[in-house]
Amino acid sequence: MASSQVPIARAVTQNGTEWAQELLELIKSADRSFRPWPLYTLSESSVIWDHTPGVTLLGDAAHLTIPLGTGVNAALYDALILARRIIQYAPDDLDSAVIEYEKTMLSQALEAIEKSQWYAEHFFGADGPQAFLRAIGVNSEED
Ligand SMILES: Cc1cc2nc3c(=O)[nH]c(=O)nc-3n(C[C@H](O)[C@H](O)[C@H](O)COP(=O)(O)OP(=O)(O)OC[C@H]3O[C@@H](n4cnc5c(N)ncnc54)[C@H](O)[C@@H]3O)c2cc1C
Repeated sequence: MASSQVPIARAVTQNGTEWAQELLELIKSADRSFRPWPLYTLSESSVIWDHTPGVTLLGDAAHLTIPLGTGVNAALYDALILARRIIQYAPDDLDSAVIEYEKTMLSQALEAIEKSQWYAEHFFGADGPQAFLRAIGVNSEED
């Protein structure tokens, strides 16, 4: 049966890995090639920018992070804040609307990027997910 597995599934399941049985079964049952999916994030310094009249960014374009399950809400929230500021300042002072929006958005973007870096280290680092378990006070070596 193992010989019919796609190569990456064979590599994962035959190397004495201690992954949960359910996960191994899921991987073994794959009948197509795995697709590597690189995860990208912007750096903290990339969300420190000066306002440029006539243009702004929102959502991933402004603050791409590795997926934390919050990216869609963050993008929608940006749109909401920008829409509110436009309603507040339109029609004469759209530039102030964007400046106010960017103040809120950029501080939240910085927070999201810092958080995502923490998760990247603890979930996807060389020592993950043990690093995450240690960080939340669970000793995975005890059992
Ligand atoms: C693997 C993975 C899992 C994720 N899981 C979650 C999750 O569970 N929950 C969650 O909230 N978020 C998740 N996210 C993040 C979420 O998908 C994004 O944060 C969110 O889609 C950002 O919305 P956006 O509108 O800013 O960008 P996008 O959704 O990327 O929209 C940008 C759009 O612009 C289009 N576009 C690009 N260039 C051009 C161009 N030149 N001209 C015209 N159109 C263009 C693109 O085709 C795209 O449709 C995940 C992301 C990944 C990669």
